[in-house]
Amino acid sequence: MSPIVELKDVRKSFGALEILKGVTFGVNKGEVAAIIGQSGSGKSTALRCMDRLETIQGGSMVICGHRLQDSNIDLKALRRDVGIVFQSYNLFPHLTVAENVMLAPRLVKGIARAEARTIAEAVIAKVGLREKMDFYPEQLSGGQQQRVAIARSLAMEPKLMLFDEVTSALDPQLTGEVLRVMEQLAADGMTMILVTHEMGFARKVADKVIYMKDGKVHEMGSSDILRSPSTPELADFISEAA
Ligand code: ADP
Ligand code: MG
Repeated sequence: MSPIVELKDVRKSFGALEILKGVTFGVNKGEVAAIIGQSGSGKSTALRCMDRLETIQGGSMVICGHRLQDSNIDLKALRRDVGIVFQSYNLFPHLTVAENVMLAPRLVKGIARAEARTIAEAVIAKVGLREKMDFYPEQLSGGQQQRVAIARSLAMEPKLMLFDEVTSALDPQLTGEVLRVMEQLAADGMTMILVTHEMGFARKVADKVIYMKDGKVHEMGSSDILRSPSTPELADFISEAA
């Protein structure tokens, strides 16, 4: 098993406030890890550090072979390897679905238009939106737009996908269609870390569950910890989420 993600005693502060207080965990190739925990526990910050959208003040972090604490880190190479999807999908409104998806392969990888279109067709089909290729974002539902945002990441052929509460802004019905896409990705062997409030989904797809509390990993294990938590804090969190 080769670790794709290795965090060791990671510390992150904003000003005087320490937000990540020594976070340690690893994720192997092909694994799905779900990060859960109360609002404000540092889940998004941890995820943003993994794509070096935030710098860390202590510890070490190796993501797809990139050592994030190194000052000479190749950020372009890191971001080719890591796809990140947020709650807000931020598609370009003046570009079609296909054009949104083709943008990064063309601009970042320098891929020619025709080849980028072929890549876009494949990943858009993968998220079940083949018939929406030439639609504009405003013509799509929120769930469909989020699936386009996932396709846009997949077009870069990432080695690791990070998802930060990607269904939190969606109705239950639209949430289901996005979760199904993520479940399919997991079945295809994509290494994924997802911050989620969807306990049922975490139970179903996660190989590893990481419960964060106050900037630390409070409990971690297989998805069994959602059925039989060891700490009273995780037990409380699960019963509140149910
Ligand atoms: P979660 O995703 O678990 O809800 P976050 O990682 O978003 O938690 O936030 C953890 C804490 O860090 C919160 O108290 C939040 O206010 C603080 N925080 C997050 N981003 C910043 C920032 N850019 N500047 C200052 N404080 C921040
Ligand atoms: Mg968050």
